[in-house]
Amino acid sequence: MVLNPYKKFFTLCTLTFTVTFCLQLDPSEVLLVSFDGFRWDYIYKFPTLNFHRLIEDGVYVKQVSNVFITKTYPNHYSMVTGLYAENHGIVANEMYDPVLNKTFSMDTLDIYDSEFWEEAVPIWITNQNEGHKSGVAMWPGSDVNISGVYPSFYLPYNELVSFEYRVAKLIEWFTSNEPINLGLLYWEEPDDSAHLLGPDNPFMSKVIKEVDEKLGYLVAEMKKAGLWDTVNLIVTSDHGMEQCSSDRVIELDNYVDENLYTLVDRSPTVAILPKEGKLEDVYEALANAHPNMTVYKKEDIPERFHYIHNSRIQPILAVADLGWTILQSRSGGYLEGNHGYDNTEPNMHPLLLAHGPAFKRNVTKEAMNLTDLYPLLCHLLDIQPLPNNGSLSQVQDLLASTDPPFLSNYVDPESYASFVGVFLGSVLALAFLLIFIKHVTRSQMSAPEVEHPEITQPLLDV
Ligand SMILES: [Zn+2]
Repeated sequence: MVLNPYKKFFTLCTLTFTVTFCLQLDPSEVLLVSFDGFRWDYIYKFPTLNFHRLIEDGVYVKQVSNVFITKTYPNHYSMVTGLYAENHGIVANEMYDPVLNKTFSMDTLDIYDSEFWEEAVPIWITNQNEGHKSGVAMWPGSDVNISGVYPSFYLPYNELVSFEYRVAKLIEWFTSNEPINLGLLYWEEPDDSAHLLGPDNPFMSKVIKEVDEKLGYLVAEMKKAGLWDTVNLIVTSDHGMEQCSSDRVIELDNYVDENLYTLVDRSPTVAILPKEGKLEDVYEALANAHPNMTVYKKEDIPERFHYIHNSRIQPILAVADLGWTILQSRSGGYLEGNHGYDNTEPNMHPLLLAHGPAFKRNVTKEAMNLTDLYPLLCHLLDIQPLPNNGSLSQVQDLLASTDPPFLSNYVDPESYASFVGVFLGSVLALAFLLIFIKHVTRSQMSAPEVEHPEITQPLLDV
């Protein structure tokens, strides 16, 4: 194939720039932090100096619309897959899969059963498949062998491991000889305390203050390690929290025989598996049993929940109104604070803060969808997102630049790799330019002989 000089020039330029930017490419680094159960308005209810500093310094999304059901495992898996629960398969903290005939409970070792997690691919795997390294500290699912892969670095889940140790490991992974570009950090508070105390309890002030200090500690450690200006930090949560009351309890035993069904998932969104042939009996018994409990057959679950298309969603779902608790009986585990309610309830929403070279500063956005976090992360990491339910366009206004990372300010000028990349790229560009000039000069001399023989020939005859 013979290219004309202009096509050659274009091809050479493309090659030059590709080589230049491939060498220069220094994908953005990201640290995603989840403080479990951090309700969006805690920062207005309690003194939270470090959260407010981050707001002034970066972007702030007041409320994140999370996925139904507003529980820990479904939402943490949505953050790293961009999928609704019905699509990623972790539909609850407590599950039964009728196809696998297996149960899943966050209170047991069931969570290490890979098959529950393999309906989706979390971002740490996708990141590694593209040649990067991921480091994950206690994020739900991160110590599970998913499709034969673990994170490059991770900590086996142990709630006794301190926040400070988790931070130390992440700093170590970000600053090692073969550094991670993606870090995920999970912390159990303020969720644990709010379940016991209830979010309206005055002692929550101390709990939130401690979480705020944890954030301050993380920022200080990042600064100490020289990561503060280079790593994009995103702080968010999986859900909010609602105050419950022992006066607002719905006891299923008052309405339906417990021998007619299995209770698969617990309050406030209760998954019910009727015994063989008992679906109608159980449904009829519960459908209008209590004014503060809405009962759906699976096929009638509202489309807006995106919570139908998975075999792990049980035939009957009973959803309590905000602040209400559904139990089989009074002996069944009442909590002062809970979440898991309708995901349009503001009290179920977390917030999101972000700081780093990729983000604007001192910008506030009213709301975003939790599923949009995944395409945002992929954009920052410069990796190809898998099919998901989010959209980068919905959160692009948080970014300092809408250009791909390697065309904006992601390249660390002190980075040796970048320097080598730029240098080699420039040399190549110069070399190609010289070749081009030489080629064009030759082409201009010889081209008429090829292209216009009828003109040149008479002249030769003279
Ligand atoms: Zn949670």
